[in-house]
Amino acid sequence: MAKLTVEDLELKGKKVLMRVDFNVPLKEVDGQQEVANDNRIVAALPTIKYVLSHGGRAVLFSHLGRIKSEDDKPALSMKPVAQRLADLLGQPVTFVPAIEGPELEDAINKLEDGQVLIFENTRYADVVDGEVVKRESKNDPALGAYWASLGDIFVNDAFGTAHRSHASNAGIAANIAQTAAGFLMEKEIKFLGGAVENPERPFVAIIGGAKVSDKITIIQNLLEKADKVIVGGGMAYTFAAAKGEKIGNSLFEEDKVELAKQLIADAGDKLVLPVDAVAADKFANDADSYVAEGDIKDGYMGLDIGPKSVELFKSVLADAKTVVWNGPMGVFEMPNFAKGTLAIGEELVKVTEKGATTIVGGGDSTAAVQQLGVADQLSHISTGGGASLEYLEGKTLPGIAAISEK
Ligand code: AMP
Repeated sequence: MAKLTVEDLELKGKKVLMRVDFNVPLKEVDGQQEVANDNRIVAALPTIKYVLSHGGRAVLFSHLGRIKSEDDKPALSMKPVAQRLADLLGQPVTFVPAIEGPELEDAINKLEDGQVLIFENTRYADVVDGEVVKRESKNDPALGAYWASLGDIFVNDAFGTAHRSHASNAGIAANIAQTAAGFLMEKEIKFLGGAVENPERPFVAIIGGAKVSDKITIIQNLLEKADKVIVGGGMAYTFAAAKGEKIGNSLFEEDKVELAKQLIADAGDKLVLPVDAVAADKFANDADSYVAEGDIKDGYMGLDIGPKSVELFKSVLADAKTVVWNGPMGVFEMPNFAKGTLAIGEELVKVTEKGATTIVGGGDSTAAVQQLGVADQLSHISTGGGASLEYLEGKTLPGIAAISEK
């Protein structure tokens, strides 16, 4: 079933509660906090502008950092975010320095059509009078109900927290008539949800990164859904060891070898593993290195996939219609071991040009496509690290489950 989106809502004259992801980095300038990077605020503008231009009265809120004590609060106030939002929107934004109470309620009641306010960091609710109570982060039912009572309808545009059941997403949704996805959330559901639920085939998944243990659930879930699952990065060496190859000092998780053996046996040619590695004598860009096919010499460690693996992976990607990529193929932070990861990024541009839907999730693969300058040539770059992982693991995300069906 399709989810309700902001475009399905009657917005005129309505108090529209909007959960946005304004968890932005801040910096101190002359003793004042300022927004250091406004990408997430810019990304939320289309949904906010849509609500305002359709006569909604927007009540915005977000978490910002982690609040573990009263002392954390001043440096994590939403005030500088409100200022930057006003600049970007080109209209006044009322900042309410509270998360509940008469001041907030009065300000909301004074809003006119097309006006916007933002209230304080939702995680201020996690510490009350110095005590850690996690009313927001543990979804205190009274808090969700209270926030819901402040508005008529709810728009959730914060995918980054969709894998958590918090008062500001699931809590409000449980207590309000309609919850709709904003444009950012809608795009994540369309691409990530589409890939795991109803992909155009062949569907190829590429999973990399350091540890098998972090990505094992994704690999298992995708082996059920995808036509091919390519595994690269540090985790591939546990699979190589499971095949009986020597891996030198490469990353290795002994307690995952049996699982790797079983996956290799069960998946057959659906699981595509590297056939060579760039092996180095130390974990450093200036290491002595060589291309190892099969066994890696004693004293060396695999830090990237080798050229034959790149060609193999490209051939698997060639006729793909849907591609999901999460995790680098090597230690891409070091230029000498970035080639495999960058080659995958370049190949994704080519398959996108040929009509495939290409989806990148996770901080490191996103950094790689940004480093290549090709992020805008792919179909979708997911904004939520943990949320996109859990989506690909096949888990139900509480923040998405809470959005009303059409
Ligand atoms: P993850 O957070 O699991 O996606 O892992 C990302 C990290 O894995 C990056 O910092 C990479 O440098 C690292 N990585 C990828 N391949 C290797 C490798 N062969 N050896 C050690 N670290 C690796």
